[in-house]
Amino acid sequence: MAGILSGLKGLGLEELEKRELYEEEEKTKEIPIRKAEPKRVIVEEKDLIYDKSFSCPVCDHKFTSKVMKTGKTRLVSADLDCRPVYEGIESSKYDVAQCPGCGYAAMVPYFRPLLKTQIELVQENICDHIKMEISEGEIYSYEDMITRYRVALACAIVKHAKDSEKAYICLHFAWLLRGYVQKLEEEGHLTAEKEKRLKGQETECLQKALEGLINARQKESLPICGMDQISLDYMIAAVAYETEKDNIAAKMVSEILVSSIANSRMKDKARDLKQLILERHKK
Ligand SMILES: [Zn+2]
Repeated sequence: MAGILSGLKGLGLEELEKRELYEEEEKTKEIPIRKAEPKRVIVEEKDLIYDKSFSCPVCDHKFTSKVMKTGKTRLVSADLDCRPVYEGIESSKYDVAQCPGCGYAAMVPYFRPLLKTQIELVQENICDHIKMEISEGEIYSYEDMITRYRVALACAIVKHAKDSEKAYICLHFAWLLRGYVQKLEEEGHLTAEKEKRLKGQETECLQKALEGLINARQKESLPICGMDQISLDYMIAAVAYETEKDNIAAKMVSEILVSSIANSRMKDKARDLKQLILERHKK
């Protein structure tokens, strides 16, 4: 290359005078690229949880309970009542914490300080009587968690928890039971007896959740169970539909459809639910 590089010879860089300024990319032989087989990563439940520290509001015991890593999970779908379906994990299995010291159990977002009178009530009615091993395996089992949800409900009753907290337990308990049925079905272990029992319990949980949500809507201030007005109305409509209380479902759906604060996503969900109600009535 003559021109701008000429003169390099005088600097003792004679060889460089002839060089091209820009390097040409080395021509590589075309090697057919073998597409890598998409790697099927098996998501293991144990990798999607971690030990979270808790301090018991009843006995001050410090302990850890397994909770789901929200950042690591992949949401696959959601049920009508917003139950999230994640890949490799049933999230509702990790929504209740229980103190191994005294047996007190509560939903993770509600595991917080209690009033002195509530502590006494839990001690007298739960801790002084409870006999259970709190299993701490690598992952939690559905059967253990069913028991844990029951203890959380018992604690909510004796401490006179708000209706919203009780409804929250019932809703997540229903999700756990639904997840359990699906898991047994996938594994081919669902007997007719088990299905009847678990589905019956799920329906009962949903009925109780509905009752609590309606009470909370009348008596409590927002947010209720972490929901704003429209989300709560939708949840009531969905759970009412699931428990065949279509008059309640239809009423809440029409409130969402005429609401000036509901966004288009919520209106779409309400419209879908309205369609389901109409279809059921055609039959
Ligand atoms: Zn405790």
